[in-house]
Amino acid sequence: MSQTNPIDVPFAPGTVWLVGAGPGDPGLLTLHALDALQKADVIVYDALVSDGVLALASPSAQLEFAGKRGGRPSHSQADITLRLIELARRNLRVLRLKGGDPFVFGRGGEEVKALAEAGVRFRVVPGITAGLGGLAYAGIPATSRETNQALILVAGHPAADGEDRTNWEALAAAGQPLVIYMGLSRLAEIARRLIEGGLAPETRLAILFEATMPGQKAIETTLAEARQNPPHSPGAAPALIVVGAIVALRDALLDHLLAP
Ligand code: SAH
Repeated sequence: MSQTNPIDVPFAPGTVWLVGAGPGDPGLLTLHALDALQKADVIVYDALVSDGVLALASPSAQLEFAGKRGGRPSHSQADITLRLIELARRNLRVLRLKGGDPFVFGRGGEEVKALAEAGVRFRVVPGITAGLGGLAYAGIPATSRETNQALILVAGHPAADGEDRTNWEALAAAGQPLVIYMGLSRLAEIARRLIEGGLAPETRLAILFEATMPGQKAIETTLAEARQNPPHSPGAAPALIVVGAIVALRDALLDHLLAP
């Protein structure tokens, strides 16, 4: 019986693979992501894709940066999708590589919609989203029967028009832990609204910087403290905020948790 290798998927010229690169540690790539890094002709990557992941690209692959530098957008979303379409039309194997999972706060949905409209065929390979990878590496179980039945992943950054439509009070009322992406610069305001929504001021909060990367660091505080003195990011390190009862679960684990 002939056996095909399920990991060796043909990467057809003229197609785009939208692939999640995970939160940073190259060991968290999927096998399909690694395969795509080896096969792609061109890799269009975001700022959050780690150097360790890019180092696994085939030496013949052309690397194109399409992200934000120093917080200033250097590529518009429209430019990026047009570029993907153009590269696919040149009959290249195009790897669109995004940090974490491409469909979790990553605009991957917008990109594949544009590809579909342009008649370009694509494949989507999920990645470990920073929220889940970051919790695991920080020793915080995402769910446990004693603490929570749900986990809320939420963007702390306002929508494209600058309007914050997140109903923080309703999220607080749900009484379930929150994992907040892109929220550090607005932490004081978010903490204030969560307290107003009914969360106890002493609710524990962890901030995970550069999760799963060599510089990984976690700091802990409370909602009340964060409202008063919100910590800042060292440099431009990406950060996740974890709020709620799951934070305390790490107390029993940290002494025996091996460093990443
Ligand atoms: N698609 C990505 C999220 C993109 S939004 C995913 O699924 O993970 C960008 C935000 O993700 C950052 O502002 C930060 O809040 C978070 N993030 C991504 N990588 C991170 C990391 N290694 N450590 C901490 N936060 C990270």
